[in-house]
Amino acid sequence: MNLAPASEEIKESIISKIRCANCRRSNLVVELVTDFEGRISCPYCNATYPIRRGILFLADPKASDWDRIYETPIRSNLARTLNDHIKLIEKALREERSLLSYFILAHLAKKTIARSRDSIEIGCGSGTYSLILKKLKIASTSYLVDRSLNALLNAQRIFSIFDEKAIYVLGDALNLPFKENAFDLAFSGGLIEHFKYKEQQRIISEHCRLANRILCQVPTNSIPYWIQRMGLTLLNKRWPFGYERPLSQSTLKKYFKNSGFVVKSFMYHDPLTAFLFRASIRHPWIGGLASKHFLNRLLKHEVVVYAQKGMV
Ligand SMILES: [Zn+2]
Repeated sequence: MNLAPASEEIKESIISKIRCANCRRSNLVVELVTDFEGRISCPYCNATYPIRRGILFLADPKASDWDRIYETPIRSNLARTLNDHIKLIEKALREERSLLSYFILAHLAKKTIARSRDSIEIGCGSGTYSLILKKLKIASTSYLVDRSLNALLNAQRIFSIFDEKAIYVLGDALNLPFKENAFDLAFSGGLIEHFKYKEQQRIISEHCRLANRILCQVPTNSIPYWIQRMGLTLLNKRWPFGYERPLSQSTLKKYFKNSGFVVKSFMYHDPLTAFLFRASIRHPWIGGLASKHFLNRLLKHEVVVYAQKGMV
């Protein structure tokens, strides 16, 4: 079957970036039957990886807790329902100033990176960060990786609603099926806190193996974080997001240092700005307040850092 020229381009891009998740060698064979179905095979260890529904299955599709989380509406989670989440993205895209105050990863990307060719989001969840970076023209080709199939299916739906394309990969953040320096930018938001310390270091090292420019957003071990966590636990009658261990900024810096990277810049996310931004979806007059950053440093409950390869 003849593929559309755009698909041939995607195929070339995939071949130039992926490596075998089993033996870690590259030069894999990619066969597409249609634009969305096919298979990848490794000529060295004979591992095969299916491509189904436009998703590259470069890890075992075993079910995880995250499949349940991305299936069930969670109270007070910003992705409570897909429709709510779509409204939130639409609102953000209409008003760049409040978008940047809410999506601090995008704000820091705009300040530090400005443009990238190929980007990869590790632990993409709904893919919202990638979508925003694409809409702001900070990222051009986007690879979205997650261990949860439901997360990738959600990301596909959201990307198609906003008329954007990405390459979706079911993959393991601890053993990413990509070559060294395959990307211009690698990033994650809300990923590494779900792993124990040793694994956190390994995941950051994997980020750093893939690109020379990294963005990483995590919750900080702070009073506002623990208050919010208690609130969410009470609302849901249990903590809904599985294992989660907030980090200190110095721990995050250390992980980058151990990987030969330097943290160049950072920004904080605070619950007051987040609340004002969400309230402004129903009450637009609040919109202006959401970009004011009242008490941002005092209430910081998440931090995003930008790290680069090399010396200070
Ligand atoms: Zn192999």
